[in-house]
Amino acid sequence: MAGVNDDPAGQTGTDDRRGGTGAVTGESGVAVDGVGKTYDDGGDAVRALDDVTFGVESGEFVCLVGPSGCGKTTLFRIIAGLTDATDGEVRLGGTPVTGPTTDMGVVFQEYHLFPWLTVEENVAFGLDRSDVPASERAARVDEMLDLVGLDGFRDSYPKSLSGGMKQRVAIARSLAVDPELLLMDEPFGAVDAQTREMLQRELLDVWESTGKTVLFVTHDVAEAVTLADRIVVMAAEPGRVAEIVEVDVDRPRERGDPAFGDHVSRVRELIGADR
Ligand code: ADP
Ligand code: MG
Repeated sequence: MAGVNDDPAGQTGTDDRRGGTGAVTGESGVAVDGVGKTYDDGGDAVRALDDVTFGVESGEFVCLVGPSGCGKTTLFRIIAGLTDATDGEVRLGGTPVTGPTTDMGVVFQEYHLFPWLTVEENVAFGLDRSDVPASERAARVDEMLDLVGLDGFRDSYPKSLSGGMKQRVAIARSLAVDPELLLMDEPFGAVDAQTREMLQRELLDVWESTGKTVLFVTHDVAEAVTLADRIVVMAAEPGRVAEIVEVDVDRPRERGDPAFGDHVSRVRELIGADR
């Protein structure tokens, strides 16, 4: 574990670089603690992440933003328990993450739906492996379909759905097991701009009504400013935290609002800046 005074970016605005919300940042939600990752598959080793430390408080909405190749997906996979870190650890609710867990709902950019299952069956899928009693599963599926507005499509197959609808199914499925954390990697990257803004609004509604902790990865700065309480801005080579920006703008946020534009400029500047 790194000391508190060796802040590589020196910009978190407090003496303690652990995310700017206190020394135990994320212990009730997600704590990313000194995470490093080196890919070494025989050729040149790639240092994808170096000493990444931040927290996400329980119930908080945090976006992770950075240029392509800065290690966002690597970090997402480490947090999800799909890839091992080379250094450091991730804790969820204080417990180290050692593999995939139903405490996290994971949504990828690609929809990852089962084409041979209906919408309803896709949403129910994770429940078969969960400790939700069989008697409660149907009601839980209904609740999730209602939450994402897909009640009328329960018997449809994924191939007949638009990209936005598929991603709603993926969100409903990930929430069905009632995870502590919703972890998303560029989930709206494959849909058109208009659908994307609609999905952003819907996700905020879901977040507000469920009180889930959300960690949302995107390379779209405006998307991050629309959604997040705080934005973890990453820099590349090696992937690291450049700064954590608090988004002090009331929701719903309007892109035309000067405060919105100020935050977008600030984050863009951080991403573009060499250090
Ligand atoms: P991002 O999601 O921010 O675009 P990635 O996490 O995908 O970044 O990649 C970070 C760095 O790690 C890049 O240099 C990428 O080429 C490298 N990388 C990612 N996955 C692997 C892998 N499985 N093996 C080797 N290098 C990888
Ligand atoms: Mg990525």
